[in-house]
Parts: sequence; C-alpha cells; structure tokens
Amino acid sequence: METLESALALLLSHAAPVPGRETVPLSCARGRVAAQDIASPIPVPPFDRSPLDGYALNSRDIAGASRERPVRLRVIGEACAGCGEHFSVARGEALRIMTGAPIPEGCDCVIRQEDTDEGMEYAAIYARVSSGENICRAGEDVAQGACVMRAGERITSAHVGVLASLGVTQVNVYARVRVALLCTGDELVQPGEALPYGKIYDANRAALTARLSELGVQAHVLNSEGDDPEHVAAALQRAAQDADILLTTGGVSVGKKDIFHSVLPRMGAQRLFWQVAMKPGSPLLCGLYEGKLLICLSGNPFAALACFELFAKPVLARLEGSTERINPRTKAVLRGAFAKKSRGRRLIRARCEGGNVYLTGENHSSGSLASMIGCNCLIDIPAGSDALSEGEPVEVIWL
Ligand code: AMP
Ligand code: MG
Repeated sequence: METLESALALLLSHAAPVPGRETVPLSCARGRVAAQDIASPIPVPPFDRSPLDGYALNSRDIAGASRERPVRLRVIGEACAGCGEHFSVARGEALRIMTGAPIPEGCDCVIRQEDTDEGMEYAAIYARVSSGENICRAGEDVAQGACVMRAGERITSAHVGVLASLGVTQVNVYARVRVALLCTGDELVQPGEALPYGKIYDANRAALTARLSELGVQAHVLNSEGDDPEHVAAALQRAAQDADILLTTGGVSVGKKDIFHSVLPRMGAQRLFWQVAMKPGSPLLCGLYEGKLLICLSGNPFAALACFELFAKPVLARLEGSTERINPRTKAVLRGAFAKKSRGRRLIRARCEGGNVYLTGENHSSGSLASMIGCNCLIDIPAGSDALSEGEPVEVIWL
C-alpha cells in the first residue's frame, strides 16, 4: 500500500508538462502558466519623474531657503503628466510640475507645493531639499532587462499589470490541460431529474467541475455510464483521444460494483497502484492509459474532493507546466476537539485562520460533503494518534 507521499511521487513521475504552447493576448493570460521568461524591454518608469505636485528646480538655488527667508525663483512653465513638452530649467528658475511629469533638464530635485506660495510667474520657496530628493528614477520599478516573469509561473493579475507597464501585448503560455471527468454509479441521477427511491444526486460531477473551473481548467464531462465496466472502459478510451488526463469517481473499493478493477484491464490501462494508507480515499486507484494518467477517486464525495486536492491538483499543475508549490503545509493550533482516535493516518477538513485551525463540521465521514463548505485545509493526523484536544498543535495541508 502506498503512502500519500509515495503515491503522489509516483503520479508526478508520470506527469510531464503538456507539449503544446500558445501565444495569448495579455488580456487572456491571467491564470495561465508562462512558457517563457519575460525580460523588460524598457525601464519602468521610462524617465525620471516627479512623485508629487510642486516645483522642479536646482537644489543649489534653494540651499538657504526657509519660511523666514524664502527664495524666489522664476517659473518658466508648467509640466503635467503626459504633456510631452521638453523643458530646460536654468539657475534661478523653476518648473511648476505635477505628479508623473518628467523631471526637466537642469533640475535635480522637486519641492512639494505645500512648501511654496504656489506662485505662477514667480514662486517663493520656503524650504530646502537636497539633490536627488523627490525624484522617482527611471527603471526604479523595473530595470531595463530585468526578468519580471519566469517560465512555469502562473500568471496573476499583478503579472498582467507589470507586463502591461512594459508594453507587452501577448504571452507565450503552456497549452491548457484537457481533463476528462467521468462520475460512475448506477445510483446517480443529475440535478433536475426526478429522484427515484434509492437514487442520489450526483454531487461529484458538479463539485469537481466547479473545482476544476476554479483552477482554470475546463473539464470535458462524460455522461455517466453507470456501473457497467464495458461501457465505462469504452467511454474512457474514447475520451482519452482528446484528453491529457482521465479522472473518475466511484467504483474503486472492494464491493461487487467496484468496477474499476476490471475497467483498467478492459481498456488496456496499466495499474500504477491501488490504495493509499490514509482516510479518506484509501481505495484510490491510479493507472496509465496510452501514457496518460488515469486517477480513479472514491465515490464518497469528501474522499473524492480531498483526493482530488491531494493527488489530482498537483498532477494538473505539473501537466500545466507550473512550478508553483501545491498544498503547502503549516503548523497550527487546534481550536475545538476531535474526539476520535486515529489508528491509521487521517485527514480531516478544517478552516485555518491566523495560526488557529477550526473543524468545519461534526460529520467527518467520507460520505459527508456538507462540512466541505468553508474548509480551506486538511488536518493531517498521523497514524496511532489519540483523540485531539483543544489547543493541541497540529499540522495542516492548505488546499
Ligand atoms: P463508491 O465509491 O462507488 O463505492 O461510492 C461510495 C459512496 O459514495 C456511495 O454511497 C455512493 O452512492 C456515493 N457516491 C458515489 N458517487 C457519487 C457521486 N457522484 N455523488 C455523490 N455520491 C456518490
Ligand atoms: Mg459505486
């Protein structure tokens, strides 16, 4: 039986970034994974500029200026952000300048207007400023040639803003990962359909599709094939033609309807492993079909979602070319108590905030979904642990 870590390592060893690349407009780049380093073609800002409203001048002209002994300078004009006019300021002169306007020739500082009389033709300067003061230098934000984004980084809105400030219009990114999702089970009906006795609504399809969408992945959702191994095998074989990874739920345990033990051989998939020493999701079954990973999650909704986070999400990130850290761990203090002993390793859903971790519900069973709401982490309880009491240190895995 695998451990969480060994199972994940095995999966990752079969997950190489998808080969495709595409160039997308910057406006569509957020959430994609960069396939190129981007170095800045220009300094940002492109010129020395004023960070405030005041006067640009030569610091030597106002060396002795004070409220009591103002220095009077001739104002040669007015520069606003974007006005584009070149100014040259001589000794004894000043330029009225607004935030964002270029520092004119002949000036080595800016004085804020509050320290002047704000005069139009002549300005009285009431304070001194030293050379270089109140100048925002060219390249202060991004130096020309500096790398602002590395291949493998997931592009955030901040990246997009920085790239826009460099004048970049498009980015080369990894192709989107194509995920086929199949939720199996004779008992499943879709929301909107009638609910005959003994049936349940399919929660996994909706939850996993939504979670994939949160991660920027659009799933190809296959019709449920019930618990018919032949149909399921055929559906997965077909879907694999246009997918980079196959995800299923249901049918991986030890019951009569746990069809995936026969689906894998039927479709000619190689089994990588079955079962992981943890709760929930211990019957996780994984294989390879034509070089593509097949991750078969338990049908129990919490098990399906937790194992999606722990196994499928890191694999997806790898397929997307991402180098980000997935599911980082942190230590936290348990608030509330967890009354059960844990003979084997157990992961329970919780919400971590400011170093404290709170249980998100009473029902910790794999079949219960409701307490996933508000959950942002799993508490990782080692095998052989006693009940956990209030205030105990625990380790959590961020989701
Ligand atoms: P299985 O993994 O197929 O043995 O299913 C385990 C439990 O999860 C059973 O109670 C199923 O009815 C339930 N289950 C299976 N698939 C789903 C699903 N898609 N949505 C909600 N519950 C499910
Ligand atoms: Mg089943």
